Amino acid sequence: MSKLPNITTSIFSVMSQLANQHNAINLSQGFPNFPVDERLLQLSVRLQRENIHQYTPMAGLPSLLEKIAALTLKKYLRNVNAATEIMITAGATQGIYTAINTFIGNGDEVIILDPSYDSYEPSVLVAGGKPVRVSLNEDYSPDFNRIETAITSKTKMIVINNPHNPTGKIWNASDFEALETILEKHPQVLILADEVYEYISFLHPHISFHTRKKLINRTIIASSFGKSLHVTGWKVGYLIAPEHLMNEMKKEHQFLVFSVNSFSQHAISEYLDIVNFDEISKMYLKKRDLFQSLLKDSRFELMPCEGTYFQVVNYKNISQKNDVDFAKELITEHGVAAIPISVFYNDATDRKMLRFCFAKTDETLIEAAKKLTKI
Ligand code: PMP
Ligand code: GLN
Repeated sequence: MSKLPNITTSIFSVMSQLANQHNAINLSQGFPNFPVDERLLQLSVRLQRENIHQYTPMAGLPSLLEKIAALTLKKYLRNVNAATEIMITAGATQGIYTAINTFIGNGDEVIILDPSYDSYEPSVLVAGGKPVRVSLNEDYSPDFNRIETAITSKTKMIVINNPHNPTGKIWNASDFEALETILEKHPQVLILADEVYEYISFLHPHISFHTRKKLINRTIIASSFGKSLHVTGWKVGYLIAPEHLMNEMKKEHQFLVFSVNSFSQHAISEYLDIVNFDEISKMYLKKRDLFQSLLKDSRFELMPCEGTYFQVVNYKNISQKNDVDFAKELITEHGVAAIPISVFYNDATDRKMLRFCFAKTDETLIEAAKKLTKI
């Protein structure tokens, strides 16, 4: 018997594979194709010869935990205890899975805002919980009436992804205030904040749950070094949560992974001394602007992109096909891969939207745009 009878292969694998088969430019799955920082490569080569190849402590390499605490203090002015409130995970994916499986049991309801990242729902289902999918507004802002109505006595958690994949939307201060007002009435509800794109925001600074004092005691925040340091294949992320929640998650983590690979932890720990996180948004802003300017005369309509490295476009002037079929046609007929947005909705809402990843070299973006502007 399957625990996930309706779950198929992730759209990211499907589209990347199709892109490879047809030799298409892959703007689908979210990963950079530009070179990794030479300084990270150099220190990695040196570290390989050092004595760093055995298990680290279960919750993470102590020096890395300390540096994450320092980073959190610098960026968010939040003091976290490195020993008790941070845990290194095998990517944010595992952090999210662990957080959900630690706190969700049979029949517990978890509110997920659609379009939603594809790992949330299966993680809830495996835990025996009930995903409650609530659509965002048409402009992808949260609809607090719908959120409030969805909360019941069984609601145990709400998952909030900000900056938002796939839409690039960022919450503003009044969104947080509205959520705080609602959750005051529901003290049993935990927040799982997926902030893997915390360093990629353009219009206004990203507001993190780290700074929300009213909710912080019941919030678990997931971050990803894969996203922040452009090394998605390293699969290293971390969770930050108050000690009483972290203690429970550590119990699960030690039997799911025990400790995350030592090499990446050592390399990232050293790299954090030299990397400048302020450069990340600037670099992606240039790429977003380049991609937008290249597509401005195309028949695709560009949606606002406030953060993340994803550009959503509407193709209703080009085709009336559903977005999954159109994304496939884009690969096979035009040589560019994108992600259809309908797959992130419970009811497959099809608004003729595609997501392009612009974490690519300028050459790749220019080549892709040449193809896209011809359509
Ligand atoms: N959450 C979101 C919103 C993502 O886009 C991704 C993909 N990076 C993840 C979580 C998973 O991150 P990781 O690759 O660190 O597992
Ligand atoms: N987060 C990446 C994206 O949104 C995909 C990660 C994955 O393939 N699981 O494209």
